[in-house]
Amino acid sequence: MIDLRSDTVTRPTEPMRRAMSEAPVGDDVFGDDPTVNRLEEYVSGLLGKEASIYCPSGTMTNQIGLHLGTSRGDEVILHEDAHIFNYEAGAPALLSGVQVRPVFGERGVVSPEALRAVVRPENIHFPRPKLLCLENTHNVAGGRILPLEGFAAVAAEARTLGLKVHLDGARLFNAAVATGVPAREWCEHADTVSVCSSKGLGAPVGSLLAGDEETIREARRVRKAFGGGMRQAGVIAAASLYAFEHHVGRLAEDHERARRLAEGLAEAGYAVEMPETNIVLVDVGNAGEFLAALAERGVLATPRGESAVRFVTHLDVDGEAIDAAVEAAAELSAYPLER
Ligand SMILES: *Cc1c(COP(=O)(O)O)cnc(C)c1O
Repeated sequence: MIDLRSDTVTRPTEPMRRAMSEAPVGDDVFGDDPTVNRLEEYVSGLLGKEASIYCPSGTMTNQIGLHLGTSRGDEVILHEDAHIFNYEAGAPALLSGVQVRPVFGERGVVSPEALRAVVRPENIHFPRPKLLCLENTHNVAGGRILPLEGFAAVAAEARTLGLKVHLDGARLFNAAVATGVPAREWCEHADTVSVCSSKGLGAPVGSLLAGDEETIREARRVRKAFGGGMRQAGVIAAASLYAFEHHVGRLAEDHERARRLAEGLAEAGYAVEMPETNIVLVDVGNAGEFLAALAERGVLATPRGESAVRFVTHLDVDGEAIDAAVEAAAELSAYPLER
């Protein structure tokens, strides 16, 4: 099977498994795991933050960031297509008792004007807006990069309005590699940042939340409360450390393959957006029918609404697999699918 459903489907490579089996470990709840400590230090450095904390998932790092930036009854502002709003099982309400205020914007962008329009002044009737969440790259928008300038502008507007900023950077390194802008330059404009090692970086699990020392000290308490305190976590943290050390630069290959896939699909007659990073969105007419027929030909992707599908490239699909996926899809474009 050529699995293009997500960049989360990657399996640990041999050298990554070796790093895992050889990792020195300790009890991370006591702060004793040398591998976790090394990972946290390494990622803080990459992101230009004082500290970071290792957690099981991006959902957890986002939700800890959100919890630390709010109190019950506060309002969190984010794009209507944000992962935090759509794919985290209602956690902002469940775990932090906050109200989420979605903002509309072209392809994942929250503009300073859109932000200003929804932030309300202090008044006993209104929830208090406390936190702006931004997402880069933007998943639903097709791995779209939020350009640094616009990102900085809306973050500055948030600060002016008295809000903190959390960056959901599950795929931040895709944006960094595609643009050549170091990840830390985006992070400068955010109070807290979550990054994932289990997406394109290819680790089996893991995410880190970065911020200043005081915030991350408090995050250790929240992580414990959310059930994310782990013991000899070095065994899995070693995979994340390996991923950050060895798999960031190679994201460029995923981007190249995504373009190759998009160009092949366009040539086969599909309405496809040219990708900025590793996510390709294609209008196929009838997503369910298309995906079933594609799976019969050995290629997996996911639906994006009724008529579109999403392909994600990653380190377990090489150029040959991409060409095979294009070939399978091209066969289908000759079929009388509803369009
Ligand atoms: C995958 C993802 C997350 C985190 O997901 P987990 O499966 O909980 O690790 C967060 N934000 C975005 C944009 C994502 O794509």
